[in-house]
Amino acid sequence: MVRYIEVKSRARSEFIDITEQVHEVVRSFGVRSGMCHLFVLHTTAGITVNEGADPAVQRDIVGFLNKLVPNDPYFTHAEGNSDAHIKSMLVGTSQRIFVDNGKLVLGTWQSIYFCEFDGPRARRVAVKITADEV
Ligand code: ZN
Repeated sequence: MVRYIEVKSRARSEFIDITEQVHEVVRSFGVRSGMCHLFVLHTTAGITVNEGADPAVQRDIVGFLNKLVPNDPYFTHAEGNSDAHIKSMLVGTSQRIFVDNGKLVLGTWQSIYFCEFDGPRARRVAVKITADEV
């Protein structure tokens, strides 16, 4: 079974912490030990795991990605958001995180981020929890 996390972005480019929403889905599945699979259902967004303590880290990453992939006028895609498609590809659209004792296995400073590159928009992340075979 697949469940969905709804994300509403407010800026063109931003990282949104969805760790608690993913934890809620893990709890709702009731799986003690297994794997949490996350998949972003969009071509101009991504998902990553990175520092959750200092918001300056996310700002710096977003700023760096914008410098790395500016929305250059030579892009031919009529929608005008090729930079967002490229950033989505660089960051990636899936993550897998272990589930142990009914909880996500994350490091002290790690959070799960939905990465918006062409907002503001309503977005969805598909979540599947698989249990270990016993
Ligand atoms: Zn496009």
